[in-house]
Amino acid sequence: MKETMSGRKTLQRNGSGGTEYHIALLGALGVGKSALTVKYITKRFIMEYDPFLEDTYTKHETMEKEDITLKIMDTFEKEESNPDRYLKWADAFIVVYSITGRQSFEGARVYLDSIVKFQKSSGKDIPITLVGNKVDLERYRQVSKSEGKTLATQYECLFYETSAAEDYELVNKIFEGTLRELCRIKERQIP
Ligand code: GDP
Ligand code: MG
Repeated sequence: MKETMSGRKTLQRNGSGGTEYHIALLGALGVGKSALTVKYITKRFIMEYDPFLEDTYTKHETMEKEDITLKIMDTFEKEESNPDRYLKWADAFIVVYSITGRQSFEGARVYLDSIVKFQKSSGKDIPITLVGNKVDLERYRQVSKSEGKTLATQYECLFYETSAAEDYELVNKIFEGTLRELCRIKERQIP
């Protein structure tokens, strides 16, 4: 990536002439970041995924006739790890909480704050998508949908509730929606 005069970053061109975008998933341990990523990439739900694994995946997409290389970082936050690795790397964020975990919802707020702080200091336009996962566990719900919506409005995020265990179409929409926001920002950057 290279810096433009405005201080914003222009997005990399990939080898095939399309654009490369980076999306990082953030959220508390166990909310389903890996499950959502793997579901999007493979359409499969993997029940047990190494909770301490951080990995980056690549997927090719076409949007509005443009070839896009999407790199997705499924993060795992260790206490000593430096958030710069994803803050500086990502063009967009998907912040995940579990609707069955109040603490994970509070955790999402902390991640949103750190992204907004970074956004202000870098001048970068960074789309954020807030996701309430595990809606298949409705009977254990601790966070209402309207609380999720309110938080998303407060931070100007896209908002979805979903289940990595069940709903491939909706999981796909989350990534597509985030990608669409990225394409919109890129269009605005072209003079
Ligand atoms: P991560 O730490 O955020 O990456 O969370 P994981 O993707 O490893 O998921 C943690 C646990 O929650 C695993 O046992 C998953 O099988 C489970 N899980 C993830 N998403 C869902 C979901 O949508 N519904 C249900 N019922 N379980 C889920
Ligand atoms: Mg994980």
